[in-house]
Amino acid sequence: MRQPEPEPQSFDRVLSSMCTEPHPDARAAAERFLATNPGDPATYDAVADLEARAVEGLATLAAHPTPADAAGYVTSGGTEANVQAVRSARNRHGEGSKKGGDELNVVAPESAHFSFHKAAELLGVELRTVPLDDDHRADPEAVAAAVDGATALVVGVAGSTEYGRVDPIPEIAAIAEEAGARFHVDAAWGGFVLPFTDHAWSFADAPVDTLTIDPHKFGQAPVPAGGLLAREDAALDALAVETPYLESRSQATLTGTRSGAGVAGAVAAMDALWPDGYREAAERAAENADWLADELADRGYDVVEPELPLVAADVPESEFRALRDAGWKVSRTGTGELRVVCMPHVTRAALRAFIDDLDRIRR
Ligand SMILES: *Cc1c(COP(=O)(O)O)cnc(C)c1O
Repeated sequence: MRQPEPEPQSFDRVLSSMCTEPHPDARAAAERFLATNPGDPATYDAVADLEARAVEGLATLAAHPTPADAAGYVTSGGTEANVQAVRSARNRHGEGSKKGGDELNVVAPESAHFSFHKAAELLGVELRTVPLDDDHRADPEAVAAAVDGATALVVGVAGSTEYGRVDPIPEIAAIAEEAGARFHVDAAWGGFVLPFTDHAWSFADAPVDTLTIDPHKFGQAPVPAGGLLAREDAALDALAVETPYLESRSQATLTGTRSGAGVAGAVAAMDALWPDGYREAAERAAENADWLADELADRGYDVVEPELPLVAADVPESEFRALRDAGWKVSRTGTGELRVVCMPHVTRAALRAFIDDLDRIRR
């Protein structure tokens, strides 16, 4: 029997996601390149050329010193980019000298995304998570206390998943440099907003070795499109394996066959939106986050002031449940606060309707 055509989730009430409705050009480009495989660039050369443009675009956003020949690739997401950053640093640590042996570690703030736990388990390194300061940012003193000669990588987060916080990137980079460790910035979510703020987060602000920046989040590209960038080619070379049956000689990606949709979508989104479209989206998101934070504070909730467009507030469990029951896709932080991500699809009208529902629930 024929089933009704399945419909994807509407974005109308989605306040919990770090993904968003793709730009129409990006959706069309993704569809056009759906059946291409950038994992085999000698066969699918058109999409391989597009991937070079995607990397150049991402490197421009992240203020790489030479965007036109920056090392990097379009990953399946922030998780793959973070796993690969850990892998690259592990492979490069103590090159030639066997320094550290097999007991290497990665130092990251407690706010680091759970993908680093996956990376540590997969790669056999110890993940040392260090406490945050009072405002949910990495504490440089705690980072300095945790690093040692076996630290292959130090991680800073530029736009944390729970509170949208930006770590003190230059300070942490200096600690990594002193310890002889590589330094990685995770800007998976924040990377398309940060260029329009005065935060220090990019290749221009600190000696960053590798950086995660995902087109499929604030970049308005369709899933799957993450990004890994490196300051030097050597960071990617450390990931390359030989590829006997392909005409290209080696492959640095974690996945083998991968869809060209993510690559083409990322390029089309950046062509359409960089820089003015992204600036407008970032400004609108910031205004919406400030508005929502004020509305919640006016009602007596404890609100974590938004730094990037993400609002967390201490809303009681019963009210949270009632909002979910009313169809609002909201989520909670690890300590139970309501968390709203003001992505490009989240309009002021939607937030007004959300607050109206909250008022109705409180009565
Ligand atoms: C979303 C996110 C990730 C993971 O990215 P995926 O695309 O979901 O794999 C990693 N780091 C940060 C800071 C994120 O916000």
